[in-house]
Amino acid sequence: MSAVSTTRAAFSSTPSTGVRSETVRSANLAIILRELHFHGPASRSELVARTGLTRSAIGALVGELVKADLVSEQRAASDGSPGRPSPVAAPVVERNVTLAVDVAVDSLAVAAVGLGGVVLHAERVDRPRERVAVDATIDDIVAMVRRVEAALDPGCRIIGIGVGVVGLVNRTDNSVSIAPNLGWHDVAFGARLQHALGSRADVLVSNDADLAALAEVRRGVAAGIRDVLYVWGEVGVGGGLVSRGEPITGAAGFAGEIGHVPVNPDGRPCRCGSVGCWETEVGEGALLERSGRSPEGGRDAVDALLADADAGVPSALDALAVQARWLGIGIAGLINVMNPSMVVLGGLLGRVHPYVSDQVTAEIERRALESSRRGVVVVPSALGGDAPLMGAAELAFERLLADPLGTLRKVSTSR
Ligand SMILES: [Zn+2]
Repeated sequence: MSAVSTTRAAFSSTPSTGVRSETVRSANLAIILRELHFHGPASRSELVARTGLTRSAIGALVGELVKADLVSEQRAASDGSPGRPSPVAAPVVERNVTLAVDVAVDSLAVAAVGLGGVVLHAERVDRPRERVAVDATIDDIVAMVRRVEAALDPGCRIIGIGVGVVGLVNRTDNSVSIAPNLGWHDVAFGARLQHALGSRADVLVSNDADLAALAEVRRGVAAGIRDVLYVWGEVGVGGGLVSRGEPITGAAGFAGEIGHVPVNPDGRPCRCGSVGCWETEVGEGALLERSGRSPEGGRDAVDALLADADAGVPSALDALAVQARWLGIGIAGLINVMNPSMVVLGGLLGRVHPYVSDQVTAEIERRALESSRRGVVVVPSALGGDAPLMGAAELAFERLLADPLGTLRKVSTSR
């Protein structure tokens, strides 16, 4: 196969000598599957243009992916130009499926997502805050997974199970170190959920904000942007930091806990045990309290607050103005730390963006270093509240996309 140089360019960490042909083939299969997964169906000519692989190499590689039932090929209708039309390759969506789970404070969601990022079935249930204990959460997830699975193509493979949790997740063992807003400490969540779900597929757990950032960078408003600060805020505030196209994870995966950056030494106590963390100023509770509502009011109370803001009610506008100031202060500091080219606001913060964007921009201009903030845009999330769920699906697809055939050998089709 003549695509060795392309492979090296696309996988820059690959050593330049001693690349075995099997490794090259596997890497090239991964390149094509990723292309189809992220950008949708493509003709062989388009794949040649996008990957730099030769036409004959593309033909052979697509053939292998078709044999593995990952890709289907259809002859395109002739467009009237001379010569045979190039067949169109597309991901086999319904038979290559990941399960995505989102453990939020106020809700649980489970989705079946097909190759290509197509949501086949999804379910989100609101749950009372007293039902956030670990055992109850696992019971609820298992029941939801069963319901979602019942609607799938009986011949489908479950490639992996990705789980986002609103807490600090140790990526080395899928445990939750602390989830202040769920009241969880040192929970072997991945292992316990794996046990409860049985051998369907491997469970991978990550922080919900990291997953939301992954989804936005892959399929959302930040697609193609290499330096992104993602700020996810609901009850708590988390961050996903992407630098030069790679997530900043830290030693054990705990990086990005921007909600617990101390900003106000005279502020409110935080559920992490500290005082005046950023999330105590910009999270849902603070916003609701400032508007005269119960900080525990949840999503309905936020809806009412934004309706008041639309109607010009002063208490709602004042609460949003204070929120905007603290948002701007925090974002300015983070811009100085990481020099992003885009700041994405997700969750509640994405919803309030239209009400606060001018003030946030003004605050950033007042406080961030001119050179660091030059050209930075602050935008709302494109994927909305489902961004962590979409990111969880991407997490579960990672191994398949890195080594398609090697991963399939480990995936069972029997459920
Ligand atoms: Zn805190």
